[in-house]
Amino acid sequence: MNNHYDLITIGGGSGGLAVAEKAAALGKRVAIVEAKKLGGTCVNAGCVPKKIMWQAAQLATAVSDAPDFGINVKNLGINWSHLIAGRDRYIRDINRYWGSYIEQQGINRINGFAKFTAAHTIEVEGKSYTANHIVIATGGQPIVPPVQGAGCRVQTSVSPPMDSSNSNSYLKKLRLSVEGILA
Ligand SMILES: Cc1cc2nc3c(=O)[nH]c(=O)nc-3n(C[C@H](O)[C@H](O)[C@H](O)COP(=O)(O)OP(=O)(O)OC[C@H]3O[C@@H](n4cnc5c(N)ncnc54)[C@H](O)[C@@H]3O)c2cc1C
Repeated sequence: MNNHYDLITIGGGSGGLAVAEKAAALGKRVAIVEAKKLGGTCVNAGCVPKKIMWQAAQLATAVSDAPDFGINVKNLGINWSHLIAGRDRYIRDINRYWGSYIEQQGINRINGFAKFTAAHTIEVEGKSYTANHIVIATGGQPIVPPVQGAGCRVQTSVSPPMDSSNSNSYLKKLRLSVEGILA
């Protein structure tokens, strides 16, 4: 198999997918290396799950306010497992969409964690790949400040925000430390 590409992106998140899509449309031989899931932080832990949880919260608020507007509502209850299962199903659908979309564009997917071994060479799961251009689209990692309570943190860029096991509703004080987007 030919392991040489015009362009390789390390990371299949918003950045890696966008650059790979553009290069493939220009007729280049392209590969995406992704260690986890296609779609990156936005799809798997950020924008998408956040918006689903936000929408659920808005609906719950509207329903609980409904009687004030003369609308009778019975049994407001939140079925967490139903909500989380629906959210995760939606995320999986987007992962699958990206998988088939990049295949249709002729972009190769390489699963695993990439390491540089030379300027134009990376190694993934013991195999070497070379490219004229290698794009580092690996996203970011927050620094956890050495403050009291840091061990109880919920890091939203790692796990989808809030399920019933990490809602931390018992917290009396909350420190919000922001890296990247706050929404
Ligand atoms: C809670 C939250 C909510 C957000 N909401 C919004 C929003 O509403 N709107 C908005 O515009 N933005 C939002 N963002 C920001 C958005 O998610 C990021 O800006 C975006 O994901 C950055 O894309 P990226 O491609 O640079 O990195 P990422 O999406 O983080 O992708 C990097 C990818 O690289 C992979 N990777 C890393 N190192 C390697 C390696 N060595 N080898 C192989 N793969 C590797 C990772 O597994 C990852 O999939 C939110 C972020 C968070 C955390």
